[in-house]
Amino acid sequence: MTPQEQAAMARARELGLSVLGTTSPNPAVGAVVLDASGAVVGEGATSPPGGPHAEVQALAQAGDRARGGTAVVTLEPCAHTGRTGPCAEALLAAGVARVVVAVPEPTGLAGGGADRLRAAGVDVEVGVEQEAAEEGALGAWLTGVRAGRPFVVWKAGATLDGRVAAADGTSRWITGETARTAVHALRATCDAVVVGSGTALADDPRLTVRDTDGRDTARQPLRVVHDRRGRLPATARVLDAAAPTFVSRAAGPEELLAELFDRDVRRVLLEGGPTLAAAFLRAGLVDEVLLHLAPKLLGAGPSLVGDLGISTIGAALSLEVRDVTLLGGDVQIRLRPTRHTGVEQHAHGRD
Ligand code: ZN
Repeated sequence: MTPQEQAAMARARELGLSVLGTTSPNPAVGAVVLDASGAVVGEGATSPPGGPHAEVQALAQAGDRARGGTAVVTLEPCAHTGRTGPCAEALLAAGVARVVVAVPEPTGLAGGGADRLRAAGVDVEVGVEQEAAEEGALGAWLTGVRAGRPFVVWKAGATLDGRVAAADGTSRWITGETARTAVHALRATCDAVVVGSGTALADDPRLTVRDTDGRDTARQPLRVVHDRRGRLPATARVLDAAAPTFVSRAAGPEELLAELFDRDVRRVLLEGGPTLAAAFLRAGLVDEVLLHLAPKLLGAGPSLVGDLGISTIGAALSLEVRDVTLLGGDVQIRLRPTRHTGVEQHAHGRD
């Protein structure tokens, strides 16, 4: 791989991330086309369902300059005719000489793109910086393919001592404005935002994505309230007309995720509260944690996560820190569980 191809792959990952939350049930792919000299002549990312794929967009931008050039793509180009024509054929028609791919296509349906290109004499390299692409924008879609359920991001905001509310129940503005803005940007990358009925009753959140002026953005994720016992009042703000809302009576997280998967949801943001978070963690259904910690202490009040059924330190749920970011005066820690099924899950079963 040339330095230009390496830079193009990093850019392709960025392009994929830029459309995360708008492509489901399709993968958020990024593509960059280099001309024969290695200069960038086209960029593309997956359109919303029914629109052109990343490769087709990048090729359209590149035009004749793609001839003899290289296409750098985060996912193996499709070889099937779905709602749009196969990208492998588009790459051949454009006269691309080389294709660099991060993640091989894991589904039988769309697979075969690399073989088709090779058979036509194109130099194809697959598996380039694959892990970085899988950890990025393709993670949600790959979880859908491999596990048959949406990818779950659990976001929580808490004080340094892990409190999500004070002893009197007040919880507004634990974190500052920068962190709150980041939550809206995070919601925009997800297909659904989920809360439990406890949070819906206590905080009455709207769960919409708002811009920096506080206005609802045009595209909104599905709002989901897990309300097993039917406690949500008809006056709840989450039921307003600003975005679609799904009130689920599912018996547990697995059933809830299956319902969402059927609605083409591939990336879920779990926003609360402690009881629902604990249920997802106990079931091994949290893929990523975004913890917003405010430099405050309360000393009393509910914890950010409910009972995990863990009574001894050896059974603690282990997480791995992926990165730490300052959000104004608060700290964001991004983590991934180091195991998805633990001793406690076996001991208690699913709930
Ligand atoms: Zn395609």
